[in-house]
Amino acid sequence: MLKPTRRHLMTATALVAATTAAVAVTTTAGAFDGKDRARSAIRGGKAKNVILLIGDGMGDSEITLARDYTVGADGRLNMDRFPLTGAYTTYSVHADGTPDYVTDSAASGTGWATGVKTVNGRISKTPGTDKPVRTILELAQRNGYATGSVTTAELTDATPAVLASHATDRSCQGPADMAKCPKDTIAAGGPGSIAEQFVNHKVDVLFGGGRRRFDQQVTDGRYKGLTVTEQARRLGYQVVTDDASMKAAKAGKPVLGLFATGNVPVEWTGEVAAVGGTDPQRCVTSNPDRPSGTPSLADSAAEAIRLLAAKQRRAHSHKGFFLQIEGASIDKRDHAADPCGQIGETAAFDRAVKVARAYAAQHPDTLVVTTADHGHTSQIVPLGANPPGLSSTLVTNEGQQLKVNYSTDTPGRSQEHTGTEVRIAAQGPQAYRVLGVTNQTDLFTTMREALHLR
Ligand SMILES: [Zn+2]
Repeated sequence: MLKPTRRHLMTATALVAATTAAVAVTTTAGAFDGKDRARSAIRGGKAKNVILLIGDGMGDSEITLARDYTVGADGRLNMDRFPLTGAYTTYSVHADGTPDYVTDSAASGTGWATGVKTVNGRISKTPGTDKPVRTILELAQRNGYATGSVTTAELTDATPAVLASHATDRSCQGPADMAKCPKDTIAAGGPGSIAEQFVNHKVDVLFGGGRRRFDQQVTDGRYKGLTVTEQARRLGYQVVTDDASMKAAKAGKPVLGLFATGNVPVEWTGEVAAVGGTDPQRCVTSNPDRPSGTPSLADSAAEAIRLLAAKQRRAHSHKGFFLQIEGASIDKRDHAADPCGQIGETAAFDRAVKVARAYAAQHPDTLVVTTADHGHTSQIVPLGANPPGLSSTLVTNEGQQLKVNYSTDTPGRSQEHTGTEVRIAAQGPQAYRVLGVTNQTDLFTTMREALHLR
């Protein structure tokens, strides 16, 4: 490495002085001294806003794969740039409270949304007794914060669902999907499907896919005969369906953005992994099945932040907002052993991380947390390896070959989640709470303490 010139040194010094979070200093080639950065990043106090970014199924392997492919082995993603990083355990529980070592998205989301571990498939209800537990979003709302949820999955899918609904089973997404939740139906005196609960909660910003759930007809109660979308309009929602109408939404009235009938189509395409491997491939950084006008996760995130902050400004509230942003299809393409789909979604998620960090740079009283709900199947293996299961060889942006393998289940079946701990990284008030090895349920406490929720 070249010796830094005097001018470089002065620039670095000026930068350190100009920002509260001092820039990282490279002392010698390859060595990294993050002491000053870590020290200035560790602070308590109260946060005005919390932005929680969830890469669904984004274990260390998935992060590394996206880094290697896009910015190179020595490059850094936006999510790699947080000053404070730890790991957390993700296990769920059986009905009797004993550990279930591999979680699904419903149980893991319930963990950080409520601070309580539950059984796989359950949405913010207890494992044995199936009782609703108050969520971080409900607490934030009750304490006067604006709230939002942005996802690339159906809005009623497990990770967004845990914030503002309580269901015996994650499949109970719309009024016609209630077979596994007899206690939760409106006819039985319950709160109804996940879609109905979301709009009844009047979450300020809801952006994602899943229009088909909201097109279903409500079967009982006050809104009987209406679709959930019509119910949302009655409750004061603006309904938007693409990038242009999303950007035209007015602050101060809740917004329901339904950008796809099912999951929002992924950004990248390529050959899926195969038994014995694929020919070396470059990913296609577009998807013919993704309609133009479909907002990117980064654009949805930026718009959600704008609407939530504007709502609070108009209300002259000194309180800010709670926003969850999910990159959902990292998980879904991992299940499908589709490396290009998976990497493209990780890269899209990383651009949303950049949006959140840019907002926090302007508003340092924002706690930003980036983590995953569970690990997943993809593994980077040596080029000479001949692993069982499905493999693909990719040619990365730095021109090198990389082999990825999927073998957590037999070829032809959905590849599976893993029980590994995952990364959690943060900046802002209370961010130090992610350091070390924590439990997924500790994230609930971190966010609750940051916003001083009672
Ligand atoms: Zn999954």
